[in-house]
Amino acid sequence: MPEESSAEVLAAVAGEVQACTNCDLYKGTQHGVPGEGDAHAAVMFIGEAPGFNEDRQGRPFVGQAGGFLGELLAAAGLRREDVFITNVVKHRPPNNRDPLPEEISACARSLSRQIAAINPRVIVTLGRYSMARFFPGATISRIHGQYKLVDGRVVVAMYHPAAALHQQSLRQTLLDDFAAAIPAALAHATQLAAEGKLGTASPASGKADDAKDDEPPQQLALF
Ligand code: SF4
Repeated sequence: MPEESSAEVLAAVAGEVQACTNCDLYKGTQHGVPGEGDAHAAVMFIGEAPGFNEDRQGRPFVGQAGGFLGELLAAAGLRREDVFITNVVKHRPPNNRDPLPEEISACARSLSRQIAAINPRVIVTLGRYSMARFFPGATISRIHGQYKLVDGRVVVAMYHPAAALHQQSLRQTLLDDFAAAIPAALAHATQLAAEGKLGTASPASGKADDAKDDEPPQQLALF
């Protein structure tokens, strides 16, 4: 049997999300929000959880924070249609509360399959919940705008765009981080790829990505 394409895996994950009852977050929501974007994106963004507008539309980052994410992408020289955007949990938590550890765990397999299917060179974490998957024990205020190699990909830690809506001073920090760190991370990833040190995961299987989950993180690369 031919191997499923990246787009087919993403479509399968999206379908599973809409029918998923693995945690209680689906209750009371209108839509699952699996994520959207280029199935072969070089850069993948992982946020926290859908909010009110995302739940209504079934699309990630469509509210105020989504508008700011568009500005941030432009600052990094990216267009929304060229990247893939998702969250660590795919259903909206009640009253926009933080996702619980068991909810993040329940939803982790969907995210792993998306990462394996897209096989991005660079992953950008938005906020502390997605940061924790790749930078265990780190503090966002200390490592925002920095990147490191994790499981064969360059991972960049960023504040969540919504943080700038609550704390105006973070707006410029985010713009500066996106403008500097994402092009630098992409250049670093390109260099690593040329050296044969980047992502060996099979694009659609998900197995290699899962198998390497326990690799120790490498030193933060500061710039
Ligand atoms: S948040 Fe994730 S694990 Fe929970 S019901 Fe939705 S898709 Fe399933």
